[in-house]
Amino acid sequence: MKTPLANGDEPAVPLPPPALRLTFDEDALAANWRALDRLSGRATAGAAVKADGYGTGARRAARVLWEAGCRQFFIAHWQEAPDVMASVPAEAVSVLHGPATDEEARYARATGLRPVLNSLTQVDRWLATGGGPCDLMIDTGMNRLGLRPDECGDARLQQLQVGTLMSHLACADEDVAANARQRDAFAGLLHRIPHQRASLANGAGIALGADYHFDLTRPGLALYGGVPRPELSPHIRQVVTPEAMILQARHVAAGDTIGYNATFTAQRNMRVGIVSLGYADGYLRCWSGKGGFVSDGRTLPVLGRVSMDMTAIDLGDSGIGEGDWVAARYDLPEAARTCGLSQYELLTVSGPRLRG
Ligand SMILES: *Cc1c(COP(=O)(O)O)cnc(C)c1O
Repeated sequence: MKTPLANGDEPAVPLPPPALRLTFDEDALAANWRALDRLSGRATAGAAVKADGYGTGARRAARVLWEAGCRQFFIAHWQEAPDVMASVPAEAVSVLHGPATDEEARYARATGLRPVLNSLTQVDRWLATGGGPCDLMIDTGMNRLGLRPDECGDARLQQLQVGTLMSHLACADEDVAANARQRDAFAGLLHRIPHQRASLANGAGIALGADYHFDLTRPGLALYGGVPRPELSPHIRQVVTPEAMILQARHVAAGDTIGYNATFTAQRNMRVGIVSLGYADGYLRCWSGKGGFVSDGRTLPVLGRVSMDMTAIDLGDSGIGEGDWVAARYDLPEAARTCGLSQYELLTVSGPRLRG
């Protein structure tokens, strides 16, 4: 009997033909970055590529963005670094979670990644382990990560080599007074800490106007086709679309039910397609009875509950069947309105089989 081989020694197994894929429009991603860079006025646009490039594949996204001209990248976890570093130099990558342990500080130094320091403890840790180029986050009202404004006069900050001095808007996708309060608080602290560039706006913040731009903007969602504020809508193109194959086409008679818990009852005889995409792929059960797939310009509605690996759709008189591919309706603003997930979740929820 053969014993399983240790990791790394596996014989090459031929790749199976895929039955689902997340299509990725590189031109749309590049065009979205260029549009956001232009809309950032005198500031330049960076790119948030955290969470595996918002579920689209960070390595490829970083490569496309670098080729488009982007030079500042943001990830959340240290763990996300190797993927992005495969496409862009470490010095261009800021790690938002910062060095929470000495081990992470050493990792930053060993790789050349830029830690975003978020507390005086992290500042101490960074200086104690040797210092060097870093970024610094100030909290101006979100109470998530960052130094409190009253800590910004601390003498230790003068020893730092801060590239990007930043803060983060809590409500940039809304028209509320908190936005201007955060902007004014940030602007008022800039002179206290030496830095090369200041950065406040995420994607939505870009649309709040020139006085939110400072030197560098940090869009994420909008790069990948999300529209966090309606002003951005004309400038943003859809980037990813889940597509999957029809595994079986079947006739369902009037009165029959479809899927788990029989939530759909056919009112007439119908042709139904079983699509190889389910909630394990990130096509969550919120799409049950609400989603739609597209073939040849026509929409084929989802019938009954989404299963783990499959979703039933009404094939109507489309003529397609087993082995044909359909695309999920996945325009992010519309999809969010339809299924109730946020546009952020619709992107990052994509499962491993779909990401490929
Ligand atoms: C995620 C993130 C961004 C990008 O935000 P979007 O809303 O996706 O544009 C920018 N800055 C920080 C600190 C973030 O955590």
